[in-house]
Amino acid sequence: MEYTTAPESHGDIPPMPLVLDPADPLAPVGLRSRLNPPREEVFQGPLEKVYLFWIVGASCDGCTIAVTGATHPRVEDLLLGKVPGLPKVELIHTVTSVESGPEWTENLRMAAAGELDAPYLICWEGSIMDETWSGDGHWMGLGEDRDTGRQITSLEWLDRMAPGAAAVLAIGTCASWGGIPAAANNPTNAMGVMDHLGKDYRSTLGLPVINIPGCSPVGDNIIETASAALLFLNGMAPLPEFDELGRPAWLFAETVHRHCPRAGYYEEGVFAEEYGDKECLVELGCWGPVVQCNIAERGIVDGHGGCMNMGGICIGCTMPGFPDKFAPFFAIPPGSLVSSTTSRAVGQFIRRFRRLSLHDKQRSARWSSSDSPSGWARYRKQPVGVEKVAHRIYSKVQHSKEGSSR
Ligand code: SF4
Ligand code: SF4
Repeated sequence: MEYTTAPESHGDIPPMPLVLDPADPLAPVGLRSRLNPPREEVFQGPLEKVYLFWIVGASCDGCTIAVTGATHPRVEDLLLGKVPGLPKVELIHTVTSVESGPEWTENLRMAAAGELDAPYLICWEGSIMDETWSGDGHWMGLGEDRDTGRQITSLEWLDRMAPGAAAVLAIGTCASWGGIPAAANNPTNAMGVMDHLGKDYRSTLGLPVINIPGCSPVGDNIIETASAALLFLNGMAPLPEFDELGRPAWLFAETVHRHCPRAGYYEEGVFAEEYGDKECLVELGCWGPVVQCNIAERGIVDGHGGCMNMGGICIGCTMPGFPDKFAPFFAIPPGSLVSSTTSRAVGQFIRRFRRLSLHDKQRSARWSSSDSPSGWARYRKQPVGVEKVAHRIYSKVQHSKEGSSR
């Protein structure tokens, strides 16, 4: 690819000399790291460290914030090399790195030139904007060429570094599929990393692009997938399973609906009428039944929160079709009308039968011929009439194989 981004010039001002003393805290971490070997007391695999480049395209930085919420393991534990079997991670991040400016981009240059002393991974956050659509300017500038002053874009760094990377991870829906910046009629021809690198791309480990979608993704999904890749890189575990779109299969195989805490309401045909109601949200616009995402079971931070746990509908933010195919977000998905109507019709019978059974199971054997002794008086008194007969029949069937006379 030929790069034609805005030619700029230093003019008569020569570039400042780079800080290249490894003992200087403002030097590129690619140099500083050589004076700072991993702690010996921590169990290490054959690989002592890796470099992780977190590079940002068209992003809101939400994925960066999301990953700081990871707890299994925590980002800090990876950076300190405290996780058994995982190499220590030297992070080069656009926001959190100590060095900045040319010293920061020097890390990228060293990676592209093969001058780092350990393998590297790329985590790309945000969608890729098509620089051929940027006219005389550029969408995503990330440092400049020290000799010519030419603006270098994030995309150019990706093209230079991806062939030598041990793995490329697309973090979030924008990086995976294009996301919101790639919505219909966008002026940047935005796309995901996979769209840009193409289906023939392979990292040095032989891996296509790994996608961890979500807007933003669950932080633990990011860390867990990166850790799985690092274990593989370190020769400590086999390559985990990825699906046909490069998603970690163990995280994205199920629909939201299957693990939603409100799924029982759906099954019984009871639906929320407004936000704040505790029932199934499908008639408020929830797409959970057709969306692959694990937030309902995993929560958003340390097992807590997550969309429907907190009362929100699923708008399909992990899916390649997001946002266009899920808009308008707050309208009822047309297909859900059929299933919710069916569920409502069947659910009314299921609900009644379950209520009947629950009343019986709420009474101890000792109370079979008397009222519950609770002073709270919340329990119904003894069943009578049809309910009593139903309980007797149910009990007979339940215990018939035991020869019970109950
Ligand atoms: S709230 Fe959404 S995901 Fe949960 S049960 Fe209802 S339709 Fe399914
Ligand atoms: S439940 Fe839906 S909206 Fe919420 S994170 Fe998952 S895919 Fe996105």
